[in-house]
Amino acid sequence: MLRFLSSGKIGLTPEVLKKVLLSREAEQEKLFAIARKVRDEQFPSLEVEIRSVVEIGNCCRQRCQFCENGTIPYRSNFRLDTTKLTEAAVHAYQLGRRVIVIQSGETASQAFVEPLCRSVESIKLLCPDMQVILSQGSLKPHQLHQLKKAGTDRYILKFETSNSELYRKLKPRDSLLRRLERISLLTSLSFVVGSGNIVGLPGQSLDDIIDDLLFVAHSQWPMVSASVFVPGRGTALAEEPAGSVELTLNVMALLRILVPKAYIPTPSSLEHLQPGGQLRGLMAGANTVNVQDDALRMNRENRPLDSSGRFTPDQKHLVEIVSAAGLLLPELVS
Ligand code: SF4
Repeated sequence: MLRFLSSGKIGLTPEVLKKVLLSREAEQEKLFAIARKVRDEQFPSLEVEIRSVVEIGNCCRQRCQFCENGTIPYRSNFRLDTTKLTEAAVHAYQLGRRVIVIQSGETASQAFVEPLCRSVESIKLLCPDMQVILSQGSLKPHQLHQLKKAGTDRYILKFETSNSELYRKLKPRDSLLRRLERISLLTSLSFVVGSGNIVGLPGQSLDDIIDDLLFVAHSQWPMVSASVFVPGRGTALAEEPAGSVELTLNVMALLRILVPKAYIPTPSSLEHLQPGGQLRGLMAGANTVNVQDDALRMNRENRPLDSSGRFTPDQKHLVEIVSAAGLLLPELVS
């Protein structure tokens, strides 16, 4: 079947997707080889996109069941310091980075969004060719408009799961419909949009993952992702098993085949569950790595946004995995 898949002679029907998702060992290696071929045809420079991640706040109005954020004592919350954010972006720029991801919990207050707009303006002024990606959750339409006007280039808003019932259980303060409306709005506001799912969520079936893949194939966002579920300490899902690394890698490879031109990150959650997992993500067709340099860690004394136990890749790890995958760093950061 994979031979036909690579020659384009077989369509990716739900039945085919199911078989491919379950492939392991030699069949899985063939799948990864097809995904790499697709990636290397679309990105012939073999350059990986490196994104410097800066966390600017862990306050959040959502209480997602899979996120440790809700377990953080209020006194440990931290918030945006606009001067420090701009300094962090300039520091990343001086390191040679040209893509920054500014992320926080979902805080739809103007007291948060307006200083963020000013910071984006300063970053675009001081670092003109820096791509600014925001990951700030489902903000209000006028706030998204303000952030676009301030110069934000891209926005990541994951749909997490295309199963609306599962979505409601895991994100009880939100709905899938509302989320999808926001993602559509981002596209209409001319953001370069990123979205994706989580693989291995408790209650998620293989059919749900196939629906996720078909949804992504239909949407064709310029940035797509799949991360693997990691049970967060202290959360309602703490005792649930982690998602499967193998299944997540197969989802990533299929994302590459279904959305050939997309930037696809190799998530740090893979490395957290399996040392070497991020390198395997690159071998499965990913072409993006998120990095958190110590100097850019604004919340050093506080708990990280998602999970205190997660792996956070640094420059050394980045260089190692990119080189082992036979890929290249952008010239400025090599
Ligand atoms: S996953 Fe994001 S939106 Fe959900 S609680 Fe955590 S920080 Fe908030």
